[in-house]
Amino acid sequence: MGVFFLFLLKIDYNSPFYGLFRQPERLTMNENNTLTIALSKGRIFDETLPLLAAAGIEVLENPETSRKLILPTNHDNMRVIIVRASDVPTYVRYGAADFGIAGKDVLIESGGGGLYQPLDLKIAQCKMMVAVKQGFDYQKVSSAGSRLRIATKYPNIAREHFAQKGVHIDIIKLYGSMELAPLVGLSDAIVDLVSTGGTLRANNLEAVEHICDISSRLIVNKAALKLKHAQIQPIIDVFAKTVAQQNQA
Ligand code: AMP
Repeated sequence: MGVFFLFLLKIDYNSPFYGLFRQPERLTMNENNTLTIALSKGRIFDETLPLLAAAGIEVLENPETSRKLILPTNHDNMRVIIVRASDVPTYVRYGAADFGIAGKDVLIESGGGGLYQPLDLKIAQCKMMVAVKQGFDYQKVSSAGSRLRIATKYPNIAREHFAQKGVHIDIIKLYGSMELAPLVGLSDAIVDLVSTGGTLRANNLEAVEHICDISSRLIVNKAALKLKHAQIQPIIDVFAKTVAQQNQA
């Protein structure tokens, strides 16, 4: 009984029971024909522009210089909203955006349930790694049965990784600059994204374990895919073709 109430209190979008108990999908402001695309600023935005261009979509303002959160495109019925990377799945899940682009890191951490994920766009590629201060004997400490303190923005990914290895950990949740934590004694190690490795090197850290490869995915609101199929499916098809061509070269 207690477990049942816990289930009701904590919405688990990955649960097979989610579909039984959830309220009908409520489309918010997007019930009309306007297509709303959720993107985050920076790497994902920059690497999405060529895909949008291939589909004939041009964003008319630069989010790095504009303070606007809703950006117009060259189509009157298409707009881009700029949201924090970790909020993209939420906007799409609730239908405030019809589709968006989110890192696999964000999708694993938040649970990708309730979303249609048709494509790995192979953009913003990087690796989820464990890193420590240079000289820290990670293998020895982690195999000696000691508890490790792990600073990360990704507590679920970190917990799962160390549980599989049978290493006891305490998680210290941070929201940015994880690299600082081992340098000032806040943690023994970090779990973070590594792309070029430049940030680790600049801070005298080294990667000691690879957790998984990360790239960005197209995520689509399930109701929007049905209701706006004629608008959304051609975009998915062009994205798929462009990604295939880019990765052939
Ligand atoms: P780098 O110095 O190129 O290895 O990049 C590492 C820094 O960029 C870390 O602070 C990471 O959290 C961040 N980072 C690397 N790749 C990504 C990505 N694909 N998405 C978001 N943040 C990233």
